[in-house]
Amino acid sequence: MTGVRRNSCDVAVIGAGMAGMAAALFAVERGLSCIQIGSGGGILFASGLLDLLAVHPVAERCLWQSPYTALDALAGEQPDHPLARVAPVSIRAAFESFVTALASAGLAYAPLGERNRSVLTSIGTVKTTYGVPVTMVAGADALDGRARCLLVDFRGLREFSAHQIAATLADRWPELRHQRIDFPGFETVPELYAVHLARALETVETRERTIALIRPLVGDARAVGLPAVLGLERSREVHAAFEAGLGVPVFEIPTMPTSVPGLRLLGALEAAVSSHGVRRRHQASVRALTYDGNMETATLDLEGVPGGERVTARAVVLATGRFSGRGLAADRGYVRESILGLPVHQPASREAWHKRDFLDPSGHAINRAGLRVDDAWRPLDTDGKPAWPRLFAVGSILAHQDWMRSKCGSGLAIATAWAAVEQVAHRLGATAAG
Ligand SMILES: Cc1cc2nc3c(=O)[nH]c(=O)nc-3n(C[C@H](O)[C@H](O)[C@H](O)COP(=O)(O)OP(=O)(O)OC[C@H]3O[C@@H](n4cnc5c(N)ncnc54)[C@H](O)[C@@H]3O)c2cc1C
Repeated sequence: MTGVRRNSCDVAVIGAGMAGMAAALFAVERGLSCIQIGSGGGILFASGLLDLLAVHPVAERCLWQSPYTALDALAGEQPDHPLARVAPVSIRAAFESFVTALASAGLAYAPLGERNRSVLTSIGTVKTTYGVPVTMVAGADALDGRARCLLVDFRGLREFSAHQIAATLADRWPELRHQRIDFPGFETVPELYAVHLARALETVETRERTIALIRPLVGDARAVGLPAVLGLERSREVHAAFEAGLGVPVFEIPTMPTSVPGLRLLGALEAAVSSHGVRRRHQASVRALTYDGNMETATLDLEGVPGGERVTARAVVLATGRFSGRGLAADRGYVRESILGLPVHQPASREAWHKRDFLDPSGHAINRAGLRVDDAWRPLDTDGKPAWPRLFAVGSILAHQDWMRSKCGSGLAIATAWAAVEQVAHRLGATAAG
């Protein structure tokens, strides 16, 4: 490999989804040098809401107002679930650290407490979640109190109807009104995209014209809800201008993916990891991973970097996700881990992957497939021993969880990243994060 660029670090994080981003952030906060490899993962499709744990047990679709009480129940009933293996005190610290990093990159979340919040979705359902962006939190308050409220949408905006949301909730929230207006400057455009509106609202003139159109409609409403288009990089400023201009709390409702809140979250995480000093290889992927003879370092061969790159690391965090992330791959009858071929906990045969009923409330066994890890978050080999003393795994690649049905995607990523990086720091002798 002559001419290949060479670099080294304490910890290489493979993956740049929610789990990889969290692991990279936590690693540098603990004073470890970090190279992160991979592109944005599922973050782009996320709603900006940070779920911790909302549903348990999934078969009963039991919703919890306190994620920490839900975690207690989970620990009692499914002790091998990855979230059940992280101490609540660590989960709290992990979330605080994560939202502080997001705030430093311009994306503010409402203070985290002990309870989940209920948030409106673009189809008029209610989502139970934990971390709520500041631009959405007035909606959770309005929904809690069933306050008199006005929803406004824009003619031509795809996949968002204030009328539909109000109609779906009419029985439960009769004080919800709706109005449709033309978006200033886009009156003749037949089909509008949220991201274009978000950019347009970052200009003061468009923002003021939009506020002026909504102001006469507010009437006795105690809050105004809008599709999530209040700015892209400057959402706090745009949101504050709407609240000042309308004289009532204003909230956003996430639109369908790819949504503006997903783009904001991805942008803020990229900015946060870069400003924390993580060396990002966001267009690269790891082609091969080998360990040196005395097991002190691992070598990662990257592709997607001009001329190639070889990274030497003292520890490696695998945050490569499941099937959509490419961490796991399935052939006709077997699931394998993509980079090292690590053993994957999975149903005994393909016939057992899915239940007969696709909508079975208890979910499908294949969605609980993944890597088994020891107490230090190290993936196990076929003998049940750590595959390499300083290889760790975090996020959705872990076995024994179905994050989609449990509504715990971000929580799983953030909490396991925290716990694994604690182990990395311990093994590399780094100081604990302040
Ligand atoms: C449609 C959708 C909506 C969601 N909504 C929410 C929500 O509202 N709230 C919530 O809390 N969570 C939500 N999530 C979940 C959350 O965003 C994460 O996707 C989930 O937690 C899994 O994260 P992950 O980092 O484990 O994996 P992924 O996001 O799948 O990331 C895997 C990463 O690994 C990288 N990778 C894989 N192989 C390699 C390789 N060989 N070399 C380098 N890199 C590699 C990929 O490029 C990617 O960066 C949503 C997810 C989706 C898909």
